[in-house]
Parts: sequence; structure tokens; C-alpha cells
Amino acid sequence: MQSTFPTVTVLGIPFVKTTAANFIAVLQQRIMQKQSTFVVTANPEIVMYAHNHTDYHDLLQNADFVTPDGIGILDGAKILKQPLPERITGFDTLQALLKWGSDQHRSAYFVGAKPAVIDQLRTLLPQQYPGLNIVGLHDGYFQDDDEVVSDIQRTQPDMVFAALGFPKQEQFIRAHRHVTKGLWMGVGGSFDVLAGAVDRAPQFWQDHHLEWFYRTVKEPKRLKRIAVIPHYLRLVRQQAKRTRPRG
Ligand code: UDP
Repeated sequence: MQSTFPTVTVLGIPFVKTTAANFIAVLQQRIMQKQSTFVVTANPEIVMYAHNHTDYHDLLQNADFVTPDGIGILDGAKILKQPLPERITGFDTLQALLKWGSDQHRSAYFVGAKPAVIDQLRTLLPQQYPGLNIVGLHDGYFQDDDEVVSDIQRTQPDMVFAALGFPKQEQFIRAHRHVTKGLWMGVGGSFDVLAGAVDRAPQFWQDHHLEWFYRTVKEPKRLKRIAVIPHYLRLVRQQAKRTRPRG
């Protein structure tokens, strides 16, 4: 198996072209080899934010892997005539790594979400992932990174999951990933979902690529995420025109 992947570049962001299963297998291999790894799972809102913020764009270039989290990225790749096989979501990747981490007795550090969510995870995670060595759980509302970072440095987790929302989680990872040789991944609102504070869409909605619709109806603040899609698709079509071979 290859340890790196071909990529498809959508508005300057290189997305890994592989299946979720392959991707997770490579992450596991890198964790076992203590190879420092920074994973970003990006949707069109993140791509557009990077398009408008050079610093964040540069930061994404610094990640080892950017995965297509969101059907809009798959649509973009199709417009570019370089289709990607499937979505690789932050939540699914997190769950797969926690299950594997439990089976293989790996260690994990969780930083992010509200204190009440972290309190729930303190009870739930050991029940759901009994073999996982949970070396730290910290909410995401701290003023100063130092305490959390020195905790991560002291505990040297195999995996650090940062649920601070973007761009904060990627900025946090970029600034501190050097303190361990583990995997660092930004997972957005995933801790809220793990704790049951937010529902994932039922399977029907997921199967019909309508998870975004379900989530938006339940959480109208997500409308802003969807609002960027027409502009995003317009820019991708422009990219397709520019890169289409002449003749
Ligand atoms: N969050 C945090 N610290 C902050 C801001 C947000 O820990 O300073 C958490 C928030 O509680 C939520 C997560 O970051 O659990 C991001 O949620 P959101 O749904 O906005 O992220 P998305 O899934 O849209 O990236």
C-alpha cells in the first residue's frame, strides 16, 4: 500500500484521492511509526475561508493530508473532471480511530467543546472505548494555550483531537504539533455529536447526500455554511475553464 496519495486540487487546496478505509489504514500506520501527522477535513466553507484568508490557506498547505469532508468537495472535483471516490469525514475518521485505538490500546487527548460536553465524554468515552488510554480531556474555552499544550507534551498521546471549530483548531495544531510525534486532527463539532448533544442525520439522509439539509433544519446557524456553496461552485467552474486542455 502507498503511504501517500495522489491529490485533486480544488481552489488551491489539495485533497487526498483515496477511500476512507485506505486513508484510515495509512493514519494507523503513521501512528504506529510515530510519524507526526496533521489532518484537516475540509468542506466548501473551509475552502472558501482559505480562498479569502492567505494565512489560513498557507496553514492548510502545511497539513500532511486534507480530506474531502462534504459533498460539495466531491461536486467540485467532478466539475474539474477529476472525481474523488468518496467523502472522508472528520466524524467518521474520529470514530474509526477511537475504535482502533481501543482495540490496540493506543492513547488519545481530547481538546475542545464546552465544559458540559467534556464532562459527558469523561463518562461516555471509557464505556464506548474501554481499551483506549484517554490521557486528557480539556474543554475548548481557554485563554492561554500553555496549560493544555504542556499537558499534551507531558502525556505524549498517539492522537490529539481538537474540536475548536475552524480556523481555530487548525491554528492550534499548526502552532503546537511539534510537541508530540503523534496524529493531530481538527474535528469541528464532533465532540458534541459524540456526547449526543447534536444528532447526526439518520442514515436515510446520509445515504441521499442530504445530511447538510437535515443538520441545517435542526441548526439554522449552519445556513451560513450552505450560503457559500453557489459562490464556491462558480469559482470551481472558473478553475475548470482555466485548466481545461485546449484543442
Ligand atoms: N469551540 C471551542 N472553543 C471555541 C469555539 C468553539 O471549543 O473557542 C467548539 C464548540 O463548542 C463546538 C466546536 O468547537 O463543539 C465547533 O463547532 P461548530 O459546529 O461551529 O464546528 P463545525 O463542525 O462547524 O466546524
